Parts: sequence; structure tokens; C-alpha cells
Amino acid sequence: MARRLTAMAVPLEPRADVYVTVDVEPDCPPYLWTWRGMEEGMPRLLELIDAEALPATFFVTGATAERYPQTIREIAARGHEIGCHGYSHAAFDTFSEDEARREIVGTNRILRGFAPVRSFRAPYLRFPERFLPLLAADGIANDASRARYKRKEPANPGFPGIRRLSASIPTSLMRLPALIRTPLLSALRDPVVLFVHPWEFVDLTRASIPFDCRFRTGQPALDDLRATIAFFRRRGARFRYVDPEREAAATSP
Ligand SMILES: [Zn+2]
Repeated sequence: MARRLTAMAVPLEPRADVYVTVDVEPDCPPYLWTWRGMEEGMPRLLELIDAEALPATFFVTGATAERYPQTIREIAARGHEIGCHGYSHAAFDTFSEDEARREIVGTNRILRGFAPVRSFRAPYLRFPERFLPLLAADGIANDASRARYKRKEPANPGFPGIRRLSASIPTSLMRLPALIRTPLLSALRDPVVLFVHPWEFVDLTRASIPFDCRFRTGQPALDDLRATIAFFRRRGARFRYVDPEREAAATSP
């Protein structure tokens, strides 16, 4: 009987593909630029992701990889995907084409010292379509810079050889209490792309940053992420790497 009740409580939904992604950067850019997330948040996040046996994709800035090479080495050694998040965490729509190329090529060169890199996400989820050829020219096959919840997303002409994945929900909404969060998660369409930052797992509730960046940071954010993963697992979600080729390599005998 108890089993039947549990089954009834979970709506029957199509099996969604869920991507857990992490943007690896200084604390809460452009407001703080400190590194507590890398020092304190990342170990907690890695522990959670590994305890859940999740495949995850980490989009790393070049500056972060230069400052914390051991952490990036550890992420790669644990089997996770490393992707490019630009070098400086400046917004790409402020760059000339030459500046954009330097950020992409320079960061890929740094990150490829740790692992193959075929996926990209622009800081602030702002990436002009005209720069897509720069990604393709430097071996990037997956762009995760778009967001479904942004009203002003430009039309999507795309670019040959570049697969697009759009973020499903702002990272701050994943930190809402379960009563509000669960209906939001239930409404997400397949594929589901989640993203978090290491600095969210540090208590920044008293920091001088916007409210949506600081509320329920620290332990509540970890608990919320664990609950979100459990939510999708109960619905039979398939957790994926952003790069499908990497997944094929990981699962081949
Ligand atoms: Zn970022």
C-alpha cells in the first residue's frame, strides 16, 4: 500500500535528460571577485556530486584554472567534463571579435592542459551569435550559453557543427524553499539544464551583493541541490555530460 501511494505521488512524465553544470569562477561576479567558492564551496560541491555518482560538466574560466590548477586537475581526475567559461569572466557582448577569439583560444589552451575541451558557456549567459564561428574554429562542439527563461534571446540561426543547450532555470530559483521550487522544477521541459556556482555553497547571506545572489547560500544551497537531484532521479531522469561524445566514450566497454 505504501508503495502504491509513493507511485501515485510521482506524476508520470517522460524520462528527461538532465545536465548538471557548474560555472567555475570567482565569487559572484561582477560584485565580489573573491575566491571563497573555490576554497570552501568547491570541496562541498564535489563531495555531493560524487556521493550522488553524477556526471557533471564544469565550465571553468582561464583565470580560475591558472589560480587553482590542483582543483581543476582533481575535477578532471574524478571523471567530470571540463568546459570553457572564457578567461576573465567579462561579458562577450563587450568584446571585439579579436578579444573574443583571445578569450576562447587562450582559455581552451589552458584547460586542454587538464582535459579535452569541447563545450563552452559564456559568462552571464551572454554570447553574441556572430561569435559562434570562433567556437567552431577552436574545436568547440557544444554551446551552453543560452537560457530558456530570458525574454530577449535573439533568434537562433545557429552554426554548423555547434549544438546548443539552453539553461532551464536561473540558479537562484533552485535555492527557493521546496514548496515553491518543486512546482517550478515540475514545469521544466526536457532537456533540463541546471547550473550552479561554487560560491553558492558558501554562506554569503551577509555579503554586499544583490539579494538573489546571497539568499539561502551555504548549507541550504547544498541541501537544495541534493533535493533537486533527488527530484529528477525519482522521475527516472538520465543525467548527462554536455558533450555527448564524451558520454559515449565513458560508457563504451
Ligand atoms: Zn559565470
